[in-house]
Amino acid sequence: MKTLLLFCFIITTTTSFAQETIASLDLGGTEVRLVAYESDKPGYLFYNMHDDENTGVEAAIKVVKKKGGVLYTLMHSGERYIEFDYDTSHYQIDPNRIYTDTGVWRELDRSAIRDTVVFEMVKAFADTLIQLMHIDDQPIVLTLHNNSEDNYSMRSYLPGEIYEVDAETVYNGKWKDDDEFYFVTSARLYGLLTPTKFNVILQNNAAMTDDGSLSVYCGQRGIEYVNVEAQHGHKRANRKMVKKLLEVLQ
Ligand SMILES: [Zn+2]
Repeated sequence: MKTLLLFCFIITTTTSFAQETIASLDLGGTEVRLVAYESDKPGYLFYNMHDDENTGVEAAIKVVKKKGGVLYTLMHSGERYIEFDYDTSHYQIDPNRIYTDTGVWRELDRSAIRDTVVFEMVKAFADTLIQLMHIDDQPIVLTLHNNSEDNYSMRSYLPGEIYEVDAETVYNGKWKDDDEFYFVTSARLYGLLTPTKFNVILQNNAAMTDDGSLSVYCGQRGIEYVNVEAQHGHKRANRKMVKKLLEVLQ
């Protein structure tokens, strides 16, 4: 029988704030590494899942190193999607669309191939990530995403816009760039973050589209979650947002 998912626990480098490969996972023959940057000091868990979104990673590395906690990041091709072949088909999977069954099927539909074996492979991959990072046991899950000018922004959640249904409330803060916002799954976090000058979106946990993203997974389970969303290359803004978030949580 073909082994669908392989692990090998490996390696580490040994500088003061080292990058450590927690696990090397195999998804259809493509190696995906879960890499951690862990501080000696306790703190929150950060997770970056898109391998081409590095501004948030740089910001979190600096902040975790100083303040404590751990940053996990997925590494494979340097691109957003994880690509692999199975049988005669080629698949392209978004690692932020795989944390619910509905989400995985939607991803397979995007490749126009509904294969139960591939569904199980992707589901096992996602479940493994959730377990390795102990997502279900976290008091709060913090994620990092970067976007581009003119596409996805805080405005995408306003009435009449593409993601209107996913937002319960949108707080249009004093921060001028709409590409920078916090996306949260609880009214408590929304209340904590609106006094900052940044934009904040509260997910509508009852009406949101189940697209398999980690915010949906957390919303369904009552796990508090914050995505720090910033534009690619906006290093200072991104770092400010991560620092402000930790300040507010303390
Ligand atoms: Zn992203």
